[in-house]
Amino acid sequence: MKGLVLGGGLAGTLAAAALAEHCDTVTVVERDRLPAGPEPRKGVPQGRHLHNLMSAGARAIDDLLPGTIDALVAAGGHRIDVPRRYLSYAFGVWNHRYPSNQLFVSASRPLLDFVVRQRIPGTIEYVEGTDVIGLTGGADKVTGALARDRETRSTRELAADFVVDATGRSSGTPGWLAELGLPAVPEERFGVGIAYASRTFQSPPGAVEEFPVIGIGGIDDPYSRGGVLMPIEQGRWMVTVAGLPGGEPPTDEDGFLAFARNLSHPLLADLMAGAEPLGPVAGHRTADNRRRRYDTIRPWPEGFVVVGDAVSAFNPIYGHGMTVAARNALSIRNGLRRHGNAAGTARIIQASVTSGGLDAWQLAVGQDIRSQQVLAGEKPDLKSRLLYAYADRMGRVARRRPDLFALQLDVYTLTSPASRVFSPRAALATLLGPTAPPLLEPPFTAAERRALA
Ligand SMILES: Cc1cc2nc3c(=O)[nH]c(=O)nc-3n(C[C@H](O)[C@H](O)[C@H](O)COP(=O)(O)OP(=O)(O)OC[C@H]3O[C@@H](n4cnc5c(N)ncnc54)[C@H](O)[C@@H]3O)c2cc1C
Repeated sequence: MKGLVLGGGLAGTLAAAALAEHCDTVTVVERDRLPAGPEPRKGVPQGRHLHNLMSAGARAIDDLLPGTIDALVAAGGHRIDVPRRYLSYAFGVWNHRYPSNQLFVSASRPLLDFVVRQRIPGTIEYVEGTDVIGLTGGADKVTGALARDRETRSTRELAADFVVDATGRSSGTPGWLAELGLPAVPEERFGVGIAYASRTFQSPPGAVEEFPVIGIGGIDDPYSRGGVLMPIEQGRWMVTVAGLPGGEPPTDEDGFLAFARNLSHPLLADLMAGAEPLGPVAGHRTADNRRRRYDTIRPWPEGFVVVGDAVSAFNPIYGHGMTVAARNALSIRNGLRRHGNAAGTARIIQASVTSGGLDAWQLAVGQDIRSQQVLAGEKPDLKSRLLYAYADRMGRVARRRPDLFALQLDVYTLTSPASRVFSPRAALATLLGPTAPPLLEPPFTAAERRALA
């Protein structure tokens, strides 16, 4: 069997690894020329911004490519157990720190991509500097793709038995499927988008190796405006600040620092003031949450699957896109393991891809509809008001109630389904209230404080 992957971002690379188990040959067509090392590239502009890989994504990547997270850590990335190495400020207080079994994996995005690329089977062939411009086949079966060399402008057909589109948010698949005679793809869009500004720093001499992740949210709404500092490779810190339309962070040096200082707590600005900047501030603007419902199209063509941001692209503030991309690759691997390339396999995989992104979608859309209503000055209906009141109380109580904070982290890292926040246990803990004192100062350890001093 011949496999073909369109787009060599993270979703495409992981999909290629999944296909390699079942295909005699796998080819990845990528618009960019891929760097020989952990370097940023044009096709993944978000690579200049903080990328937090959640527990569920780290486990999925290791399931597909065993030893990848160890290799990333050996290359300088951090396996951060949370909340032991996590200080987050929201609702006017800091969380308590204690060991748990949840993780953030932190590294620059170029390093993560490079380590993953190094670990995929060497038999996977890359066709670089080439644009995919269409699909071939018919409404019943996709038989390959049309590719155009960016230098020579020559076009050729790449034939395959199984084609995966992983070309990201700007994927042309809805139009390409229409050209093959398929119906319009239903699309769902929510939210108002978010602007990011990020800068990398050399951490101050003596900053402890296990420096924590630090997150600052809003006083009332933790996601409307905030910032995060994550330790990455080579003793560096990556700092990203973000804001909704109307409250976007500036990308000039002074404006960036002032934005961080005016967050609900000035800690990020204080830490940046003591660290050496390693380059300019990078900006990025992301559109709304967008989901294409390929799973609803009947009949679905054989031999074709869409994954990653090309299917579901989320507000990045929640940090779920890479985890969903990794799950999508597992859907391909497991679907092909179970059914081979028999009739109907692609449709089954496509349905599994949608369900693999459902919890991330519900979390992002649930929160962003609220921000959308606030920005538009709309009054939420009674059901929404009750829901928001419950979520706010849970957020406030969890800061001072470790069992509830742990439950929220299970959901946030996509380890537990989003519905768990409505479980009897969560509701009871929310009702009973805090069990620990409020932390009004950042709970650094003595060693962290000494190092920062
Ligand atoms: C600012 C920002 C911050 C983020 N932070 C996080 C985070 O903290 N945690 C997290 O899990 N996720 C995060 N994400 C999401 C994450 O970046 C994506 O979900 C993830 O990279 C998977 O993307 P992808 O591979 O599907 O698409 P992309 O990363 O967009 O890759 C698509 C690839 O296809 C190539 N391509 C595109 N069109 C064509 C074409 N026609 N022909 C050939 N090649 C083509 C591109 O060059 C690129 O290599 C963030 C996203 C943004 C924008």
